[in-house]
Amino acid sequence: MIEIDFENYTYVCPYCGCRQSYYGNYSYSALGYARYNNSKPKQTDLDVFHIKCSNRKCASITVVAKDSLTKKQFDLYPQHVHKEFPDYVPLQIRSDYVEAVTIIQDSPKAAATLLRRCLQGMIRDFWNIKKRTLKEEIDELQDKVTSTQWKAIDGLRKLGNIGAHMEKDINLIVDIDEGEATKLASLIELLIDKWYVSRHEEDELYRSVADVAEGKKEETSHE
Ligand SMILES: [Zn+2]
Repeated sequence: MIEIDFENYTYVCPYCGCRQSYYGNYSYSALGYARYNNSKPKQTDLDVFHIKCSNRKCASITVVAKDSLTKKQFDLYPQHVHKEFPDYVPLQIRSDYVEAVTIIQDSPKAAATLLRRCLQGMIRDFWNIKKRTLKEEIDELQDKVTSTQWKAIDGLRKLGNIGAHMEKDINLIVDIDEGEATKLASLIELLIDKWYVSRHEEDELYRSVADVAEGKKEETSHE
């Protein structure tokens, strides 16, 4: 979902990721704000926000509607917001994540199941933990990550379990709404950053420092 704060007039551009104010950033043609009323005001008021990114390199248009009664947000354009992760994150994980984000509005439960699969893929690939069930894998992970990270991961497992093992106990269905599924997607994004991206950046730094040291050694040996 597009990150927009209607109270403080800020949003995060879904194209370039810049957090910015959209207040006062409208003109008649493409930008700004429109409200469509019908004969029963308050019941069906829909505020439509056309916002142009103020980052000149991007300048993309985002369109979001808000039901003024229920405060529900509708992303009109773009409809799905997902992060682009680098190639060193396994393809299966990236594609499960993108698919989950794409269906999150229509089917949060199915999205949660995909996100759970994503998590399992990450634990198996990144931590090399392979057990019979995801629960056992997450238990194994407990002393490897921080306790807050672990609690969130275990929460994702519980919520995402629904679609995967529905046949076991039909009464176990926990209704998960779009907001909750979106939080789970954010958790996956954060874990990809904390695990894969951090490790990659750390490796790059070590490599560059080692290269410098190697260069110095060669310099001294020539003296
Ligand atoms: Zn932008």
